[in-house]
Amino acid sequence: MSLSVKHSASPLNIFTMMTNLARAHDAYNLSQGLPDYPVAAALGAYLTEAVEQGFNQYAPMQGLTSLREAIAIDLNKRYQTKTVAADGVVVTPGATYGIYASLTAIIDKGDEVIYFEPAFDCYRPAIEITGGVPVRITLEASADFRIDWNQVKDRITLKTKAILINTPHNPTGYVWAQFDWDQLADVIGDKDIYVIADEVYDHIVFDDRQHLPGFLQPRLRHKLISIYSFGKAFHITGWKVGYCVAAPDIVAAFKSIHQYLTFSVNTPAQHAIAQYLQHYDVAEAAATLQHKRDLLIGGLQSSRFQPLTTSAGTYFQLYDYSAISDRDDVSFAKWMTAEHQVATIPLSAFYQSERSDKIVRLCFAKKDDVLLAAAAQLSKV
Ligand code: GLN
Repeated sequence: MSLSVKHSASPLNIFTMMTNLARAHDAYNLSQGLPDYPVAAALGAYLTEAVEQGFNQYAPMQGLTSLREAIAIDLNKRYQTKTVAADGVVVTPGATYGIYASLTAIIDKGDEVIYFEPAFDCYRPAIEITGGVPVRITLEASADFRIDWNQVKDRITLKTKAILINTPHNPTGYVWAQFDWDQLADVIGDKDIYVIADEVYDHIVFDDRQHLPGFLQPRLRHKLISIYSFGKAFHITGWKVGYCVAAPDIVAAFKSIHQYLTFSVNTPAQHAIAQYLQHYDVAEAAATLQHKRDLLIGGLQSSRFQPLTTSAGTYFQLYDYSAISDRDDVSFAKWMTAEHQVATIPLSAFYQSERSDKIVRLCFAKKDDVLLAAAAQLSKV
């Protein structure tokens, strides 16, 4: 007998591996991107209420109408537009699922999908599992992870079916400017190429920056699906609720897959989020995380860890450790967890290509006292 191997990525993802290691060594876990602080009391109360009120059976396939309407109102308000309609929203069990289902709806066997590394770890396996051919474009730390758009142009072939992008970007913290969107629209031109835009950190941008959602790009919106996550917006990664926004034909193709993959998403969570969306503090997530970013960077100021460009968004800050060690980043991260009780993520985990960077990713979506204690540990290294 043989089991199917559908992708070329590691059988055990780096986030699980480092979190397990952090537990084994009782280390501060600045590796996996998950908050360790409590959720808003009102949101928790809405969830309990929804269960008690009997909302415990399947929700409609596309998502609760009340939630999709609340999402449309929220997006239109946040991005000062009127373009988002509840019909253009599909509620998903998280954003990773949204990426898989989007690829499944778009890709035929052998179609090429361009993506950029460093990349979130599910992109490549998701492309492979859904029958696509991953075409990776490598961004270098030495070039500030800037995209060489001429290279993108060169990599587009007649088989290119989609380009997968991510802003705000995990792990670099880069937030796309209008220039980036314009470049993407230019290289795609009138070619039949879809864009899957992973925008899960759209709430979490710092220093008065604005996230620019893909669905507002006039030249791309008809061929684009934007992927979002309440996990990040409301610090509830374990609820696994997100959503997609797309043009009507893409929504129809997405739903055609979605109904047979999961049918529908956790009903009480949808009720709770629909209520909370109506009065949550839009600026809270960015303010909370910016404070935490600054706490971490301040705490490491006198350490031998050197921050790369200050994170403009997400949960993450990259640090160069070349002043400390010659070890490769995986063995450095393991050694740090075991010997100094701080778990991080090696940057090479976001690359398929061989790396020699001496860089780790630190997650600052953690309690203030955890960040300070971890920074104190790291400052001793
Ligand atoms: N997105 C989070 C990170 O980058 C967690 C991902 C995961 O655990 N699969 O750390």
